[in-house]
Amino acid sequence: MVYLNGNFIQKDKAYISIMDRGFLFGDGVYEVFPVYGNIILGLEPHLNRLQDGLDAINIKNPHSKNEWINLINKIITLNDKNSNQAIYLQISRGCDENRKHTYGQLKPTIYIQSSGIEQRDKNDLLKGKSAITREDIRWLKSNTKATSLLANTLYAQEAKECNSEEAILYRDGIVTEASSSNVFIVKDDCLYTHPKGPNILPGITRDVAIQCAKDLGIEVREEKFTKEQLMQADEVWISSSTREILPITRVDGVSISNGHSGPFWSSVYDQYQTLKS
Ligand code: PMP
Repeated sequence: MVYLNGNFIQKDKAYISIMDRGFLFGDGVYEVFPVYGNIILGLEPHLNRLQDGLDAINIKNPHSKNEWINLINKIITLNDKNSNQAIYLQISRGCDENRKHTYGQLKPTIYIQSSGIEQRDKNDLLKGKSAITREDIRWLKSNTKATSLLANTLYAQEAKECNSEEAILYRDGIVTEASSSNVFIVKDDCLYTHPKGPNILPGITRDVAIQCAKDLGIEVREEKFTKEQLMQADEVWISSSTREILPITRVDGVSISNGHSGPFWSSVYDQYQTLKS
């Protein structure tokens, strides 16, 4: 079951107009809420980021926080409240009479769906995943969680075709983030990740991972690092709501450190798992 513009309906009965600006221009924002049983991890920060996204593209938030929480909870219940779910929520600017770039005040189109979160076994993660690197040519508003994700989808597809988990992006030699996740390195017992700003999505999992690391007494620096530093790192991780925190042990076919996940990833991963129950 999905939610579309006021109705809870079967997914195959959910249709939008071809005049929807989400369809014509990718004119909208979205959020993904990870749900473990009855826990919505980072509910408040996800709703705050949704508000930031709407503000950034001048769409008036059609619902209060409580209304959103009720809609999300209803979708969770309708889609098996005992399972792990990724709740996808999208708001597009809505439909106009004609296709034109400019817009007036429109009624936003609201869509919410649920899909499963792949449960990965820690033992399977120990050897880590591979990634490729690509130059980051995206626009300089990557902090807005916009539905127009053409560059990101092309990077993700390239990674897939290289049998890799992710495409790690760099701009002017600085690692920004990845096609759908944030990037961390560990060097000399210190955890580094790109500072927030226009070049990265401020990942909610990024914040949670930073907090987990700090709780464990690990030094964290939200500082820029280069592609060379990435290649020379002791550990590389990516983070996202649906993939949690994953170790990357091969980049562009080259092993990171000894080619295995490291102790910092292991302890932050374990700490993260405690938040799910
Ligand atoms: N960066 C990008 C480009 C993303 O698409 C995502 C996840 N959609 C992230 C980072 C991670 O964000 P979060 O931890 O909030 O899922």
